[in-house]
Amino acid sequence: MKFGGTSVGSIESLLNLRDIVNAQEKPVLVVVSAMGGFTNQLLAMCEQAQQRDISCLDTLETARKRHHDAIDGVVIEPMREQVHATIDRFIDESLKPYYLALATNPHMPVAEIERVCDAIVAHGEILSSAIVTGMFEDGVPHLSLNYMRTVPDAAGRVLDWEETERLVKEDFANLDSGVHVAQGFISRDKKSGDVTNLGRGGSDYTAAILATLLDAESLEIWTDVDGFMTADPRTHPDATVIPQMTYAQAQEMCDAGAKVIYPPTIAPVAMKHIPVWVKNTFNPSAPGTVILDS
Ligand code: ADP
Ligand code: ASP
Ligand code: MG
Repeated sequence: MKFGGTSVGSIESLLNLRDIVNAQEKPVLVVVSAMGGFTNQLLAMCEQAQQRDISCLDTLETARKRHHDAIDGVVIEPMREQVHATIDRFIDESLKPYYLALATNPHMPVAEIERVCDAIVAHGEILSSAIVTGMFEDGVPHLSLNYMRTVPDAAGRVLDWEETERLVKEDFANLDSGVHVAQGFISRDKKSGDVTNLGRGGSDYTAAILATLLDAESLEIWTDVDGFMTADPRTHPDATVIPQMTYAQAQEMCDAGAKVIYPPTIAPVAMKHIPVWVKNTFNPSAPGTVILDS
């Protein structure tokens, strides 16, 4: 079950997520995005820091408060203190030093700047997943940096399926009990170990990769619309939900820009014939869309 940025972006939506997950009878692996808008903020702060604009640290404090408020609203009592401390630790001991390094080092080589910004942007999912894990008494944390592996290619980077499969099978050897929580989007370079990612919107792809490698019964993409629609409802208010589609139809619409699913998501699950559901975290009783072979 993958929950996107808006689905983990507020106390209201996180409480919906909790109810949706708790209603499941079978073992669940939850894959989360960063809190809505936070990935953009982390990247905008990278730009600011490179311009020596230290006001990016103010934005960071606003983000810290947003995460702490969410913890107070949703994390179960025995876990709360620990999750607060985790958020502060990542902000104070990791994000701040990275931003200060960017702001105070005018001669940083471009490759190093890219490496630092990739490390920074991974924090969105790291922080949101700490909150989501802390919502469940039986929450089991996973760290996608430990098993998602990428290699460089002409277009940037791609998943190393073989190495990822080996590591995923080790990390998820026991999925029988508990609510397992993993970060979307983030990965490491197989050779250097540097933090990398699967591209903007890539959490859908993480969920599809894990569903494929773990032979999931289904992949559920929980988002902020009632399903895969005939067009983007933001620009086409008359768009309607498509109840059922084939993988080929979904792939075609994603390739044409339907942002609801990140395009690389479809192929791996299609190969394993795993049904994909698109459902609305804010309206869970809506039937949604199912994507199948035919
Ligand atoms: P998430 O953060 O859950 O991954 P996204 O913003 O990436 O959510 O994707 C959901 C958004 O995709 C919707 O809010 C909607 O505006 C947009 N969208 C674009 N095309 C479509 C489509 N054909 N069907 C549904 N949503 C679409
Ligand atoms: N947080 C990342 C992004 O905003 C990945 C995702 O949400 O799928 O692009
Ligand atoms: Mg998305």
